[in-house]
Order: sequence, then structure tokens, then C-alpha cells
Amino acid sequence: MYQTTKRTRLGRLPERGVYDRETVHAILDEGFVCHVGFVVDGQPYVIPTGYVRAGETLYLHGSTGSRLGLRPGDQVCVTVTLIDGIVLARAAFHHSFQYRSAVVLGRTRLVADPEEKDAALHALVEHIVPGRSAEIRPGDGSELAATAVLAVPLEEVSAKVRTGPPKDDEEDYALPIWAGVLPLTLTPGEPEPDPRLDLAIPVPSYVAAWERRSPALRQTAG
Ligand SMILES: Cc1cc2nc3c(=O)[nH]c(=O)nc-3n(C[C@H](O)[C@H](O)[C@H](O)COP(=O)(O)OP(=O)(O)OC[C@H]3O[C@@H](n4cnc5c(N)ncnc54)[C@H](O)[C@@H]3O)c2cc1C
Repeated sequence: MYQTTKRTRLGRLPERGVYDRETVHAILDEGFVCHVGFVVDGQPYVIPTGYVRAGETLYLHGSTGSRLGLRPGDQVCVTVTLIDGIVLARAAFHHSFQYRSAVVLGRTRLVADPEEKDAALHALVEHIVPGRSAEIRPGDGSELAATAVLAVPLEEVSAKVRTGPPKDDEEDYALPIWAGVLPLTLTPGEPEPDPRLDLAIPVPSYVAAWERRSPALRQTAG
């Protein structure tokens, strides 16, 4: 379990709060895009980017010239959101989403150790497209120098999960309005070869068979 803190204890609908590591890890491992919030000169920014979890660390990467890369040690709020459906209630007020989300609060650390940096970048590629790193050209010295890898410890963490049918007001259940859940899933389309690709190169099996990691948690929590 992650210990709840003043900052991570859910105020609204606290019954949807989840703090066990298994649930949080599963959300972080199924997603691969997060939104990183940070404040520069009093102005909040929320920037989408890729990430990977390794143990109890979240790794982000970006250009050394990006604001995040330039500001190691900043306090950040990293959010990952998985949408599992649209909840259509009878009343406008009760419309919602089926979702699983995780919020990580912490301070970034610039990964300076070349081994840790290399492992994090490798894990990032494998997290998004498992099997890819075995055949791509690895980053060279100048590419690695231009890439900042930031680590955020998984210490102050919360998850929130919504499942189940709409929750209308009792008197509205008699209304002749369709209500229910429209499930949504992320599925890949047909791979589109680069126009400059040598067409003798086939689509790799890990691309043809790519799928979002198993949504094992959809049926849990209320
Ligand atoms: C796809 C999606 C759509 C949503 N739509 C709405 C909406 O339309 N209106 C609405 O009011 N709310 C919506 N929510 C819920 C929303 O994320 C917040 O939980 C809610 O607004 C309460 O915010 P708060 O700042 O008052 O949270 P509080 O409960 O005060 O937050 C306290 C702490 O709880 C944790 N926390 C709060 N929300 C989340 C979360 N979603 N995931 C993980 N940890 C969390 C954080 O650590 C936060 O610091 C939606 C959530 C998702 C994922």
C-alpha cells in the first residue's frame, strides 16, 4: 500500500480511491502517456509525454532543452488516465466516465548515471512497443547527451477507479431515456509503412500483434 498523505487523500468520492501498489502499478503499466504538471514562475504547465515505470520509479525523458529537462529537482504532478467507457446517465449531472487514473506527486531527479539512463531509455521503448529495442539502432553519444531522463519516485501516489452502471437519482430511473455504459478500448489500426521503407522489410510480428496491455483491473474496485 502507498501511504496516503494530506495531499493524496481523496476528498471527493473517496470510495473510488485506491492506494494498493498492485492497482497503481497496473494502471501505470497499461498506460504509456502521462501528463506532467509543474509550475514555472507561478504559471502551471501540464505537458503530455511518454513514461515507463521500473519498480518504484517513474522515468520521463525529453530534450535537455525542454523545460522539464532543464529543471531537475522540480516538484511535479504526473497523471496517467485510462478511459474504459462513457457512462450515460438519465440526468446530465450523473454522466461520467469509466476510468482508472493515477496521480504521482514528487520531485524529479536527473538521471546522471549512464547505466541507469540507458536502462530507463531501453525500458521506455520496450514499455510502448515490446520487442522493438532488439532491432533498432541505439542512441549514439550525441543523441544520449541531448536526452534528459528524469526519475520520479513512487512514494506519494493515489489511484482512482470508476466502474459500474450510471448512478441516477431514484426518481429518474422511471424516465424513458436510454442509460448505460459505452465501453471504449484502444486498438491498433493497420500498420502504415514509411513511404521510404524498403518494401522487402516485413511488418515485424511485435508490430502486427501489438495490443494495449491487459486491462485486468476493469472489473475491480467500485
Ligand atoms: C476521465 C476522468 C474524468 C473525470 N471527470 C470529472 C468531472 O467531469 N468532474 C469532476 O468533478 N471530476 C471528474 N473526475 C474526477 C477528478 O479526477 C477528480 O478526482 C475530482 O474532480 C476531484 O478533484 P479534487 O481536486 O477535488 O480531488 P481531491 O479528492 O481533493 O484530491 C485529493 C487527492 O486525491 C488524489 N486524486 C484526486 N483525483 C484523482 C484521480 N482522478 N486519480 C488519482 N488520484 C486522484 C490526488 O492525489 C489529489 O491530490 C474525472 C476523472 C477522470 C479520470
